[in-house]
Amino acid sequence: MKKCFVLDASGIINSPLFSPGNDCFLCPPEVISEIRDSHSRSILEALKASGNLEVREPLSDSVESVLKQARSTGDVSVLSETDVKVFALAIETGSVLLSDDFALQNVALKMNVCVLSASHGEIKRKVSWGFRCEGCNRKFPLDYKEKTCSVCGSKIKRYAKRVFRRRQ
Ligand SMILES: [Zn+2]
Repeated sequence: MKKCFVLDASGIINSPLFSPGNDCFLCPPEVISEIRDSHSRSILEALKASGNLEVREPLSDSVESVLKQARSTGDVSVLSETDVKVFALAIETGSVLLSDDFALQNVALKMNVCVLSASHGEIKRKVSWGFRCEGCNRKFPLDYKEKTCSVCGSKIKRYAKRVFRRRQ
């Protein structure tokens, strides 16, 4: 049976896994334009030639639901427009996401998207994010909208609140 993978740029750049003919691959057009080096370009060309690469936009409904989830988990700031589309495609098609981007992998776990690291196997840790003041260390909820601390005026930074092993 064919297995379907959604690719982000890091997935294409790092992956030794491509075996055109057995699997099918999906990505939004933006990922293609992010691929610049000649080696990755040639991987891409081979995929295209095999007829197993589908380049398309996700549905706007899927994009919306990804944005909604990313806002609720506080990850919306780490996701580029391309990342959001990559997730939307994975959710829409029930495909496995192939990515070497650590932030992306974490978001994938939270969205119940099955993710494989292109070069190092499956991600083992899950991070949840919070906001903290650089100056006084005061913590702020994820929906805190200001860029500076309401107490001391220092910068608010995102930090990894919890890192835990993925349950098998
Ligand atoms: Zn402060």
